[in-house]
Amino acid sequence: MAKRTSTSTSGTRRPMRPCAPAHAPTVAPKPEQRKPAAAPVAAFTAAPATPPAPKSADFYKRMVDSVRAGAPSLPPIPSLPVADLAPSSGPRNVVMYVAHPDDETGYAGGTLKKLADAGHAVTAVSLTHGEGGRIVEERGGEVVELRAPADFPVAKLVRARDAEMSDAAGRMGIEHAHLFDAKLGLDYGYTRSTAEVLTRWDTLAPGGLDGMLSRMVADLRARKPDLVLALMESNPEEHGAHKASAILVDLAARLAADPSYGSGAPHVVRELVIIGSAASHDLRVDVDKDAWRHTMGAYRTQFLEPMISETDHFIRGDDTSHEQYTVRWSAHGAVNPAGESLFASLTGL
Ligand SMILES: [Zn+2]
Repeated sequence: MAKRTSTSTSGTRRPMRPCAPAHAPTVAPKPEQRKPAAAPVAAFTAAPATPPAPKSADFYKRMVDSVRAGAPSLPPIPSLPVADLAPSSGPRNVVMYVAHPDDETGYAGGTLKKLADAGHAVTAVSLTHGEGGRIVEERGGEVVELRAPADFPVAKLVRARDAEMSDAAGRMGIEHAHLFDAKLGLDYGYTRSTAEVLTRWDTLAPGGLDGMLSRMVADLRARKPDLVLALMESNPEEHGAHKASAILVDLAARLAADPSYGSGAPHVVRELVIIGSAASHDLRVDVDKDAWRHTMGAYRTQFLEPMISETDHFIRGDDTSHEQYTVRWSAHGAVNPAGESLFASLTGL
């Protein structure tokens, strides 16, 4: 097997893992700014009339804490009848929001295909185009990792990754979409810091984080998913963009149900499920590991096909026969993962 080595841009050897610490953040977080006196989470209950003022790092920390604590200051999710969970109620609409193309496959590819095979409508929506990622090539028996813009134009990477996500979606039998233009550069590199990513996104996205949330709410109201999947948001070792995207999805799904937020008819997401870690999860889905490996092969500039192994599975590492999740919240009130969970009912748990 060819050896795995790293990019010519740094000369150092690195493990070939997606979304892993490929390089240090290239731009430092914004300097600390004076924080507003009022708790600014309330600002997310209505579309701002003027561009949002820059926010402090403490703002993002409190925003994250608010979500993890159940976001008492955010609008409650309207309650729905538990009877509506019955699988016999027909095909469901499932949307997974991810930070980068390949996250949907690496974390949940087996589950998404299983849901599609069962007749449910499944879509993977990526916030970015993976424009901060890499292209791997085999040169002289070694695998080299190349990066834009040092090794090729960013547009080449975006074209490759867009095509790969389309290919992966086809292999799973699902739809796919992107929420934001690659030119925004929302995928800018690796950091573990959620606050750093949110700070960067607030400066890069039109309208800042309020604009991102507004766009995500509009997407939720247009797609009308029953079930939303998101990346994990609490694992300290996780990519900061994964954690930040999950937090925004959580906020957006709550706001989509709020008739006072933005324009368009409100939509109630029935359940938000996040990726569970090996150490913490409450639902486990048995999946077809060969089908998962086949889907991963679509990301041919991310993983050279002969090298795709179970160690590339983002969660299990040593076992791709199942994927695991945690129910973040449900519009059915208290969720019993053993039964009263829409996700559990759809995946045959
Ligand atoms: Zn990722």
